[in-house]
Amino acid sequence: MQFDALFRQLIESTSDIVLVCDATPPEKGGPCIVFANPAFEKHMGYSLSEVLGESADLLYGRGTDRQTRSRIRKAMRQGKGIRTELLKYSKEGQGYWMDTNIIPLKDESGAITHFASIERDLTRYKRMESQLINMALFDSLTGALSRPAFLDQSDKEVARSKRYHRPLSVMMIDIDHFKSINDNYGHAAGDNVLQIFVEAIQEVIRTTDFLGRVGGEEFALLLPDTSAKSAFHLAERVRERITKYPYLAGDMLIEVTASLGVAELETRDPDIKALLNRADEALYKAKENGRNRVTLAA
Ligand code: GH3
Ligand code: MG
Ligand code: MG
Repeated sequence: MQFDALFRQLIESTSDIVLVCDATPPEKGGPCIVFANPAFEKHMGYSLSEVLGESADLLYGRGTDRQTRSRIRKAMRQGKGIRTELLKYSKEGQGYWMDTNIIPLKDESGAITHFASIERDLTRYKRMESQLINMALFDSLTGALSRPAFLDQSDKEVARSKRYHRPLSVMMIDIDHFKSINDNYGHAAGDNVLQIFVEAIQEVIRTTDFLGRVGGEEFALLLPDTSAKSAFHLAERVRERITKYPYLAGDMLIEVTASLGVAELETRDPDIKALLNRADEALYKAKENGRNRVTLAA
């Protein structure tokens, strides 16, 4: 058998998309599609005759990253190959993440006449990737930031605050007698309280504040550009909102209160851990003094 026939068979039967474009420059509406294999037709929903002569941009859409597109254009202009992940759209407008491998093809004289693109659908893996990122960043029960994500974000904010001499405060929030909520109403009701508790806090804070779940029923709030005085007032509002919010276990209304410790970043705090420790000490005092109260760190 001739190699030509073998290669044709390979390209027509592979599940990878093979697309060949001519080397018409983008300014002249190129590169234009001169070949697409059956995998392309099946995946993207276009027939070959529909796309022949069309610009390869036909497959780009709203979510296609502009920077990646310009990186591709640059590589093509320089006559180089490029491999990248790219969001492309089918005829019906369905977005697919494609592992896209673009290869320049040359004639006998070495001049680039075409570009081939070999593509494989990564959508399933991209979805898994974003799920994993979300799992690492957010607490799945409450939607608050996970402890590592909160600390990571706080490190950056502390550095920013020190660099620009901006105030920054933190608040530690711990549910009072949470163990007895679990004991009296069950663990599932306790979980439900945690979810509602976070909703209550989020209603009071700004979108620029960061809420993290740093322990089982312990939350930390990072307040950029906020002095101790303002943080204390906000803490009072948070505390009040927590007590007034309706918490249901079945059809029973549960009373929930929390104790809060507030601390403002000072030069003596080398890092976020030191600041959180001081807020934690203040929280401990609030507990000692009867709970359902706010204490400012010394
Ligand atoms: P205090 O007022 O001193 O804070 O008392 P407390 O009972 O809230 O404190 P303690 O630390 O003794 O109890 C915390 C409880 O939180 C114990 C643990 O079982 C419970 N807990 C931790 N994480 C979860 C969770 O995800 N769901 C539920 N339902 N309970 C949790
Ligand atoms: Mg507690
Ligand atoms: Mg606790």
